Amino acid sequence: MSRYFKNIWEGIFTVLIGMKVTLRHLFVPAVTIQYPTVKLKLPERARNRLYVNMDDCIGCDQCSMACPVDCITIETLKSTPDIDLGLTSVGTKKRLYVPRFDIDIAKCCYCGLCVPPCPTECIKMTDVFEFSEYERGNLIYNYAVMTPKEIDEAKAKLTAHEKDQAAKKSAAPSKPIAPPAPTQSGPAPRPVAPAPTPSGPAPRPSPVVGTVSGPTSSPKENPPKDPETTS
Ligand code: SF4
Ligand code: SF4
Repeated sequence: MSRYFKNIWEGIFTVLIGMKVTLRHLFVPAVTIQYPTVKLKLPERARNRLYVNMDDCIGCDQCSMACPVDCITIETLKSTPDIDLGLTSVGTKKRLYVPRFDIDIAKCCYCGLCVPPCPTECIKMTDVFEFSEYERGNLIYNYAVMTPKEIDEAKAKLTAHEKDQAAKKSAAPSKPIAPPAPTQSGPAPRPVAPAPTPSGPAPRPSPVVGTVSGPTSSPKENPPKDPETTS
């Protein structure tokens, strides 16, 4: 019988212990939030989804070269001299069309290395981190704003301009070849005089040994020629 009441007491005591913990946390500020209704503020330099402001992109390819996983694909097209593509917000002149600017965000590792090299600060990290998709292909973001028609027109114009330039170049008369410029001004250098012979009596020729007969020539009969008198 006593065992029966003891079990009842232990059950009530255990519940009271559990409720004590619950009661203590009733008066402590909550650390959880009602996500997704409530969202925490992200740190200032949090790295999430990228954004590219194409109005400021000059197609320099710096971001693509810095990317360690090659998830940025950029294609550019030269503009013709009669086209003014305008300036970026930092005053850089735009000279290239950017018909393609894709970021495969499924490959992106959010390292942020593409952001600092951008000279116009047009690629940046945003605070958007909820962009899951059912299809992987939907994670390739196309930032270019040119339509296929605009791209075709720009290509046709560039081709025509290049043909025109090539025709002008081939029609231009070839320039005469200029004579080579003198390498040095002033009078021509004087010829270098031969080194003086050592002073003192000329060495005597060694006696001729053998079958050769007749007088032998001495150094005096064949002196070194003076270049000034011979020339
Ligand atoms: S954050 Fe890193 S991985 Fe992602 S696009 Fe930029 S450089 Fe590439
Ligand atoms: S570095 Fe900046 S300006 Fe250059 S291609 Fe990338 S986004 Fe465009």
